[in-house]
Amino acid sequence: MLLLKNASYINPETLEISNRNILVEKGAEGGISFIDTISDIKDRIGIKLMDCNEKLVTHSFVNAHHHAYSALSRGMPQPKVFPANFSETLAFIWWKLDKALTMDMIRLSAYATAIASAKAGSTFVIDHHSSPYAVEGSLEVIANAFDEVGISHLLCYEISDRDGIEIAEKGLAETDNYLKNRQGLVGLHASFTVGNKTLRKAVDLAEKFKTGIHVHTAEDSVDQELTMQNYGCSVVERFSGEGVLHSPATILAHCLHLSDKERKLLKNSGVYIAQNCESNLNNKVGHFTSKGLNNNIMIGTDGMHSDMLRSSQASYFIGLNHEEMSPGIALTRLTKAGNYLDVNNFKGNSENNLLIFEYDSPTPVSRENLPGHFYYGLTSANIQHVISKGKLIVEDRKVLNVNESEIMTEARGLAELLWKKL
Ligand SMILES: [Zn+2]
Repeated sequence: MLLLKNASYINPETLEISNRNILVEKGAEGGISFIDTISDIKDRIGIKLMDCNEKLVTHSFVNAHHHAYSALSRGMPQPKVFPANFSETLAFIWWKLDKALTMDMIRLSAYATAIASAKAGSTFVIDHHSSPYAVEGSLEVIANAFDEVGISHLLCYEISDRDGIEIAEKGLAETDNYLKNRQGLVGLHASFTVGNKTLRKAVDLAEKFKTGIHVHTAEDSVDQELTMQNYGCSVVERFSGEGVLHSPATILAHCLHLSDKERKLLKNSGVYIAQNCESNLNNKVGHFTSKGLNNNIMIGTDGMHSDMLRSSQASYFIGLNHEEMSPGIALTRLTKAGNYLDVNNFKGNSENNLLIFEYDSPTPVSRENLPGHFYYGLTSANIQHVISKGKLIVEDRKVLNVNESEIMTEARGLAELLWKKL
């Protein structure tokens, strides 16, 4: 057990800050408790005492939309032909990269993502994976790497007809196999690359395993244009008609190009939206606005990096320009993914997932101004320790369960191999 002495504990629900000694239980079902005097307990065998004087302690982050498979793309050479639009960005960059992935590359990408997530304070990652020529067993490879680092997860394979029906069937089979033993979602690339047969099979799978669909939705106007052309309706209307919106476990990533009618459909459903604003800026596809939606809005990093605080800050600043936004609204959005996991009874978001900020602020920190500190003060560099399911996984900014430098060396070698294949 861990004993966090003299911590400034932020209650994740009320944002109330109180000076506490926190006893952290181990295990997926473990909790935390507060004790007044630590003298009787601190020398008990099996207790690790951590001095948290002047440190902020709170619940760790959940990343609502990530792509571990893109971890080896950082700094890769530009494509020979520069993409003129979003469809070309997919065709010239991402669909080339994911097709070149081998199982070793997937494993190292997952380790690198899990390490970066842990160090930036996330103990839970909702990932969307694609590797059309290494489908079978890919999700278990990612799950094992995440488990080893100490990151809980909700994985899915990005099923699509874009590489033909045979590969779509492989994606469905991989999902079916994986969900027999693990919690996860049914992944789809996007409406414009998924035909009706595949869409129906995916919805059937989600119903079979009582889970949701995880799909890119109206990320670019091309999704709407091709959906209208091929299916005679908008993306969200199509999803609504096919049962994608039935489960509150369903995650629609992006949701930029929506009509008022689609916003109403989403508002009246229980599904969640994952906003990924830095990725939207990078792809020049537009910006998200919550206008006409409900509060089921979460934040993801979309494979750009694994730093949730950074993405939440970007969401805040972009939001100030395009929607109703305040530090409080932004912080609610940052923590919403935890609510999503709880509502849907997914495991791994227990009370004993904590992060410890080393934060020497030049101004007072209180319940009232805490959101301001999240958007104008704290960065992931302030994260000193991270606890996942009651166990330290990052101590003094170093991951504990794996050898980071060996993994990064191996990853760099595989990244060079991958880039040569492109
Ligand atoms: Zn994405």
